[in-house]
Amino acid sequence: MNPTRDNKGYVYLIGAGPGDPGLITVKGRDCIGRADVILYDYLANDALLQHARPGAELIYAGKVGGSHNREQWQITELLVEKALAGNVVARLKGGDPFVFGRGGEECEALVAAAISFEIIPGITAGIAAPAYAGIPLTHRDFTTSVAFVTGHESPGKEASAIDWQSLSLGSGTVVFYMGMKNLSQIAANLMANGRSPETPVALIRWGTRPDQQVLTGTLADIAETAHKVGFKPPAITVVGEVVRLRERLRWFDSRPLFGRGILVTRAADQVGEFSKMLAELGAQVFECSTISIVPPESPEELAVALDGLARYDWLIFTSFNAVKYFFAQLHAKGLDTRAIGACRVCAVGPKTAAALEAHGLRADLVPADYKAEGVVEEFRKIPVAGKRILFPRADKARDLIPKVLAEMGAEVVAPVAYRNVSPDRLPEEALQALEEGRIHCVTFTSSSTVEHLAAMLGENRFLQLLDQVAVAAIGPVTARSCRELGLEVAIEPKEYTLTALTEELLRYFHDKA
Ligand code: SAH
Repeated sequence: MNPTRDNKGYVYLIGAGPGDPGLITVKGRDCIGRADVILYDYLANDALLQHARPGAELIYAGKVGGSHNREQWQITELLVEKALAGNVVARLKGGDPFVFGRGGEECEALVAAAISFEIIPGITAGIAAPAYAGIPLTHRDFTTSVAFVTGHESPGKEASAIDWQSLSLGSGTVVFYMGMKNLSQIAANLMANGRSPETPVALIRWGTRPDQQVLTGTLADIAETAHKVGFKPPAITVVGEVVRLRERLRWFDSRPLFGRGILVTRAADQVGEFSKMLAELGAQVFECSTISIVPPESPEELAVALDGLARYDWLIFTSFNAVKYFFAQLHAKGLDTRAIGACRVCAVGPKTAAALEAHGLRADLVPADYKAEGVVEEFRKIPVAGKRILFPRADKARDLIPKVLAEMGAEVVAPVAYRNVSPDRLPEEALQALEEGRIHCVTFTSSSTVEHLAAMLGENRFLQLLDQVAVAAIGPVTARSCRELGLEVAIEPKEYTLTALTEELLRYFHDKA
């Protein structure tokens, strides 16, 4: 909705935060969702674009340090043009729009064009990056002041606009933005004006992101060390005694999976819970949907089975998606959970059981073993001869369950409730990370994830790219599929759950460290 009453557009100048997509304000996120057009920067995390409403126009406004895709005036012009065309525009800028973000200039242009706007502050990198590095910018024992300074000022400039003397005297923390290129000059200026060469310094690159890098040293040696290790922008430079606290207070880059790139192969419609769990442990997670869950080619199969729902004695669900599509079909018929009546329900795996509970159904049988073999074992204990069993399943599911139950004398109806189809390629980011050796582990949570990834990459390339990567498989069936394709399985939990898989992963990397 356009908040203005005339036909002119409206601009939200939004601080996107420093990188961690969780570090945007609630208001900023809401405004992204309201925009017709989103103009976003290099430093604003792309992940925030998922809050855009479908159909919003997304424009990358470029600006990669030095080699600008678009000049600032072009961005400003585009902003004004989009707003004048009547759009609600979200201008998404890294960190805070008014801290070294040229937000002031963009606002001036909006004022000149009489376009209404709002500023939504963001967490600036100069505050967030030190926080994620475990460096409090002020601390009663060390300093009572902090200054934010641009490090971008041309070193050749005769009369510096920066008051080096007052920055150097006393013990105030100094935070430089854009200071990598001029690092040695910055350090020299501070020392020449009285800061001790022993003053600790921290460089924080890509702060708050899972690939955050921190380098520490002193005013005397930091420039040389940075040069030696090839430390690159974008980075924040923190100068001051507070940097010493990092040793005790670091938390972000000391989490158990920090620095580990993990490729999570998963079904497109699956919830990203596993990825979230890994990210919280510090891993850099790349997601790759190897499976999209789509409706069956002939939904009538399930629809017909549901017509006779009352005649079944048992309903078996072996996946979250089976539950999802079963209920979607049930609801489409104008029915609800009551249609299941006295029919007993078997759920394989805790996720499946939880999905059922969300529909008010408690499973009568939850086999301890999640494999098809485990399920039929449970049914051996129950007299199923003559019983009618409905088993809504995936198109490519193994037919062990219906086969064995039929052998036991049950009448089994197993309609296809959904299909697994394979997208034809990997997301660019994941592929690039694989090629550059930034992925240390790949996780497979079903045989189809393995098979589909192999199909997407081509078998040779699949083996070649995964050669140095630790393979994690959720259970023996998935592990067997890995081996059949020529992979060695390094991580395989005893219990076939994502939590157990995560624990096994932690153990593996702990042993490696
Ligand atoms: N408006 C932004 C700053 C833009 S200037 C803000 O408030 O954060 C660009 C500079 O910001 C970079 O050169 C770098 O010094 C710093 N920067 C931005 N994001 C960063 C990050 N995630 N980690 C470290 N430095 C970052």
